[in-house]
Amino acid sequence: MTQIQTDYLVIGAGAVGLAFVDTLLDEDPDCHVTIVDKHAKPGGHWNDAYPFVALHQPSATYGVNSMELCPDRRDTRGHNAGLFPLAPHAEILAYYGKLMSERLLPSGRVDYYPLTEYLGRDGETHRIKGILSGEEQTCTVRRKLVDGTWFQTSVPATHKPAFEIAEGTRFAIPGELPALWKDTANLPDHYVVIGGGKTAMDTAVWLLEAGVPADKIGWVRPRDSWMFNRKLLQPAYHAIEDLVKFQVDLVEAATASETGEEMFEELGRRGTMLRLDENVTPKMFHFAVISEGEVDLLKRIKSVYRQGHVTKIEPGKMHFASETVDLPENTLFINCTATAVPFSVRENTGPFFNGDTITLQLAQVPFVPYSAALAAFLEANFETDAEKNALCPPAPLTDSTATYPYAVMANLMSTAILSGNEKVNAWNAKSRLHPTGPAVARMIKEGDPRLAKLATIGDTIKANMPGVIRLGMAAKEIHENSQPGWKAA
Ligand SMILES: Cc1cc2nc3c(=O)[nH]c(=O)nc-3n(C[C@H](O)[C@H](O)[C@H](O)COP(=O)(O)OP(=O)(O)OC[C@H]3O[C@@H](n4cnc5c(N)ncnc54)[C@H](O)[C@@H]3O)c2cc1C
Repeated sequence: MTQIQTDYLVIGAGAVGLAFVDTLLDEDPDCHVTIVDKHAKPGGHWNDAYPFVALHQPSATYGVNSMELCPDRRDTRGHNAGLFPLAPHAEILAYYGKLMSERLLPSGRVDYYPLTEYLGRDGETHRIKGILSGEEQTCTVRRKLVDGTWFQTSVPATHKPAFEIAEGTRFAIPGELPALWKDTANLPDHYVVIGGGKTAMDTAVWLLEAGVPADKIGWVRPRDSWMFNRKLLQPAYHAIEDLVKFQVDLVEAATASETGEEMFEELGRRGTMLRLDENVTPKMFHFAVISEGEVDLLKRIKSVYRQGHVTKIEPGKMHFASETVDLPENTLFINCTATAVPFSVRENTGPFFNGDTITLQLAQVPFVPYSAALAAFLEANFETDAEKNALCPPAPLTDSTATYPYAVMANLMSTAILSGNEKVNAWNAKSRLHPTGPAVARMIKEGDPRLAKLATIGDTIKANMPGVIRLGMAAKEIHENSQPGWKAA
C-alpha cells in the first residue's frame, strides 16, 4: 500500500471539482491538490453523455475561470441561430482534457488519479482504490477533503429505468440513436420518447432534425416543464439589456403573484419563461434553458401521453398504471427518464465549510461551476469557517413551479451578501464564470452608456423586494415540507 500526501484531496474531476481546483491554484499559490475520480478522463458525467448533447446555457459562463470555453460569436444556423454557442459534449470533454494536461498537471501542484475510487476515511487517513488494479492507497490530507460529488448527476447511460421492459421490445438510450443509420433495413416504424425533462427535449429535437416525421414520434410527458428563454440569458457584455429585463421580470412577477404557479404564468406572458403547450400548466421547473426555435420544433409533436409514469413496455404496447396504449409493433422506445440532478440531493445540504471538509454545493442557483470556484476563492482568502459560510449559505435546489420563488429570494440575498464584500466583489469582476461581473467591469472601463440602464435595476429590485420575500418565504415552507428532513443550513 502506497502513501500519498497532499493539502487538498478533491473527490471528483467533474465541472464542480475542476472549477474549484482551477481557482484554488490561482488564489493559493502554495497548496498541493490531489484529485481522484472513478472516470477514466476529466469531465465527470460528460464522459457518459449522449453524443448530441450540448450545454443548454451559453458556454460563456461554463467551465473554469482560467480558460475560455466559448468562441465570441453567435450561431448562424439551426434552432440556436442568433444566440451564442452551446458547447457540445465533445468540446466540453476536450476542454476539460486540455485543462488537465495543459494547466493543472504542468503546474506541478496537482496530482490526478483517474479510474480511482474514494472509499472513505479512518480518522485522518483517507482510503482510495485503483478501480482496475484493485490496489488500495492511503492519503494523508494536510488541510481539507473537498467533496465534488454532491450533485450526483445522473445520465441515461448510467441510469436504470424504473419500468419493466418485456422481451423483444425495441429499447434504446439517446446515445444509441446516431447509430440507426447502420441498419437501414431495420429502422423503427415509430418512436416513443419517455421522459419530460431536457434529455427528452434534446432527443425529440434530434429525431425531428434527423428527419423523422413528427407524426411518427410519441412523447410520454408525465409532467410539463417551464424553461428559461435562452434569448434572455446571453453573455452579459453583448446582451446586458436582456439580462436586466430577465431580472426585472423575475421580481415584478413575484410582486404581482400570490403563488409560484402564478409567477410562472406572468413570466410566460412576458416571454421570460417558455413552455411546450399553452393549454397545460407545467408543475415542473428544473432550470432548463431552451430557445424559441427548439420550442417551435417540439410543438410539432402532437402525440403526447400524460397518463403518468410508464410501468411496462412491450412490442406494440405501452402500459401506464391504469391504461394501456397501442402502438405500432416496431416502435423504438427511448429512455430519457434520468434526472440530471436528482433533487433528493438537497437532503445532504449543509454548510460548505465544515472543519476539515468542504462540500461543494450551490451558492447561487443554478450556477454550478461559479459556486465551486467561489468556494475556492473563499477558502483561500478568508480565515474561519464562520466567515466563509456567512458569505455562501447553500442555495436551495428547488424543483417545482411552487418552490422556485424561494430560489429567486435566496439568489437575491446571496447577491447582496457577496456584493457587500469588497474582496469578493473584486474577484467577481474578473471571474468569467460570474454571469455579469466581468461584463460590468468592462463596461465601466469603457464608459459604456448602457450602464445608465443597468443602474436602475437596483431600485427596481428594492421596490419589489417585499413581494419577493412574501412569495419566497411561502415557497420556502412548501420546499421544506415537500421532503421531510431537509432543512436550510
Ligand atoms: C445532460 C446534462 C446537461 C447539463 N447541462 C448543463 C448546463 O448547460 N449548465 C449547467 O450549469 N449545468 C448543466 N448540467 C448540470 C450538471 O450536473 C453540472 O453542470 C455539472 O456538470 C455537474 O458536475 P459535477 O462535477 O457535480 O458532477 P459530475 O460530472 O457527475 O462529476 C462528479 C464526478 O465525481 C466522481 N465520483 C463520484 N463519487 C466518487 C468516488 N467515491 N470516488 C471517486 N470519484 C467519484 C464521478 O466519477 C464524477 O466524474 C447538465 C447536466 C446534464 C446531465
